Amino acid sequence: MRFGPLQKALFGASDGTYSAVTDREHYDSQITLTGNEVELAEKYFGNTIHIGRVSDNPAAAAKEFRLYPTGERISLNLVYPKEDKPELRLYISATAGFKPEGGQVWFLARKGGDLWIGGLDGNHWKSLAAGDPRDTDYQEAIHSTNPSPEIREVEVSGRTYARNPALGRECLKRARYQCEFDAGIGLFTARATGLPYVEVHHFIPLACQGYFDESLDCLENLIALSPHWHRAIHYASITETIPVVERLFVGRSELAAKFDVTLEDMLRFYQCEAIDQ
Ligand SMILES: [Zn+2]
Repeated sequence: MRFGPLQKALFGASDGTYSAVTDREHYDSQITLTGNEVELAEKYFGNTIHIGRVSDNPAAAAKEFRLYPTGERISLNLVYPKEDKPELRLYISATAGFKPEGGQVWFLARKGGDLWIGGLDGNHWKSLAAGDPRDTDYQEAIHSTNPSPEIREVEVSGRTYARNPALGRECLKRARYQCEFDAGIGLFTARATGLPYVEVHHFIPLACQGYFDESLDCLENLIALSPHWHRAIHYASITETIPVVERLFVGRSELAAKFDVTLEDMLRFYQCEAIDQ
């Protein structure tokens, strides 16, 4: 599967692919590349990929990769084992430094002039985009007694994005201080405002900004959520996150139109998509 905007932002990559490692691939110590993986590897290595068995020409079979996350340069064999090139095969090896387990997600990422390779636990992969280190700061600005709180910045993968608390307040007003996922959920009263305490969330994560021309810090992209469901959309399991994203996306035609996004895109922004093998 090809990297979407979120994965590109997370890895600082211009392109990339990912798929699940099967038990068989782990056991056989070889991965047959498919679709986008073949395309990416062929584009990077050009016509230097050896045709034939590794043992026929070990020097030509060995290719250099940068190992995620350390950046260590490792050498793995990558060849077309058969003359007519129907398959492109990568040999994984613990000795060489890369031997993902069955069930892990392995990926190739084009970053600068290098091709990175890595393997992560399924849960680790799905949690990569979770959390928001500056969120408390942003919610505090929205709920402060200051009538015009200053714009707060958040840094994602080395880039800084602005979040305007005044827009957040607009969003809460529009939602009539109710949670947009569960209007009936119990809310406490915010001390500073005397109003029900609801938080503001950027539905398309700011990490994806690089993919869009228009600012993601806009009313169309803001949703009001109770503290419970706000934490859930950041940290809940995939099975619990999917229905939240689905229901919140229904009726958001302005968001869909402005950013040209589908429900499928939205689920990918939350790393909720099913991962092909
Ligand atoms: Zn949030």
